[in-house]
Amino acid sequence: MISTRYRWLSVPLTVLALFLGWALGVVASPEEPKYRYVFPVQPPDVAHFAPEHHDYPATDIFAPAGALFVAPTDGVIEFISREDLWNPEADDPVTRGGLAISMVGDDGVRYYGSHLSEVDGALAAGMRVQAGQTLGRIGQSGNARSTPSHLHFGISHPTFPDDWAVRRGEVSPYPYLQAWLKGEMRAPAILSRSCAASGAEAASNCEIFGYSAQGRPLEVYRFGNGPVKIALIGAIHGGYEWNSAALMHRLMAHLVANPTLVFTRTTLYVVPLLNPDGLARSGGPDGRFNGNMVDINRNWDCLWQPRAEWKGRAVSPGARPFSEPEAQALRDFLLDGRFRAAVFYHSSGGMVTAGARCGGGDASRAFSHAIARATGYTSMRFPQSDVTGEAADWFTSQGIPAVAIELSTHVSLDWAQNLKALQAIQQVAVANSPSQPPVQEVPLIPIPGLPYPLIWRWAEGL
Ligand SMILES: [Zn+2]
Repeated sequence: MISTRYRWLSVPLTVLALFLGWALGVVASPEEPKYRYVFPVQPPDVAHFAPEHHDYPATDIFAPAGALFVAPTDGVIEFISREDLWNPEADDPVTRGGLAISMVGDDGVRYYGSHLSEVDGALAAGMRVQAGQTLGRIGQSGNARSTPSHLHFGISHPTFPDDWAVRRGEVSPYPYLQAWLKGEMRAPAILSRSCAASGAEAASNCEIFGYSAQGRPLEVYRFGNGPVKIALIGAIHGGYEWNSAALMHRLMAHLVANPTLVFTRTTLYVVPLLNPDGLARSGGPDGRFNGNMVDINRNWDCLWQPRAEWKGRAVSPGARPFSEPEAQALRDFLLDGRFRAAVFYHSSGGMVTAGARCGGGDASRAFSHAIARATGYTSMRFPQSDVTGEAADWFTSQGIPAVAIELSTHVSLDWAQNLKALQAIQQVAVANSPSQPPVQEVPLIPIPGLPYPLIWRWAEGL
């Protein structure tokens, strides 16, 4: 810690350190491409495409029927439509693509190709594919049945698979297609906007603190500079509770625009999506589980049981407590001795429960009562007894008061209520932390071009 006498030095020193870091980065490390990319239609010389698409970002890659659609990068199959269900009368946007495949690359970007005539028979959701691997054949299915055969190619961030409005395309693929044709390993801009690929985690307010079972990055975003650390965690139950991730993204956009909502004595650590594998799999009940089909919220070392339940249905709690990488990563990230609260966002139910089953419940109940007062949610004093290996219970037993907020439905953000809840959470955390450890001196550096506006649209569009 810099003493008061030399405090004036801290800003110039920080600037100098940043400049040196930048200069070293520029001089010493020629960009190693992190991921490999292949033009998605093979052979490429039969393909042609234009820079423009009609009314949203995507590219129609025209090619003779039967040309190959290949994986543009290494990744995991997210979604397959093997049947052409498009009905011109109904024109349901979900079925417009006909035979279609989407995959989530190791770069964190989703790639979507539709109007296929054929999908490779061996493919299944969750399967790993390599850059260049055949996924299907170009055709005219869906609403392309009266147009020349082409691949509709869309690039977006992953949402749950049925979210057609995002899935169809979010940034123009054109410059990347051009680059990949020339053999350049150019990553989509959606990627450089995420901390997953910025390569600048240490110098920004975004950090990767672990990886999911299927290798997707687990990201945490930091807001504020105070000594009282609070963790807000979205979508431990993945796609089934995707609105809790959407709430976290909307909250982050709001905090960027309104930094004073973070108390001077608090720092908020937002984990928007603890279960990216589940989100990639489905917006339905199967989207609850991680890449190992484990319910991450049954995997913690509080009353853990080898058989676990959810609403009377058997769910996998993992082979043992903390068998799952998402639970390990969050445990290790939060146990640094300075977190004063952890809030898990779920859906649905319109209630808040305090972690209490393994002791320490009074501290957590102070938070759940304050949240209930601020939001009107029901504060559940006696949580269900059949829940085992639960995260908020475990953190509470470790001295980090923790609660689970259940948004009122599976689609609502309960926005106004949760803004009030955020204030209540910070008030309780500060009141419980009377000591005054020195405040961190290094200023936060904003990351240019965070993905918030994009994800904001995702939240608003539903
Ligand atoms: Zn849940």
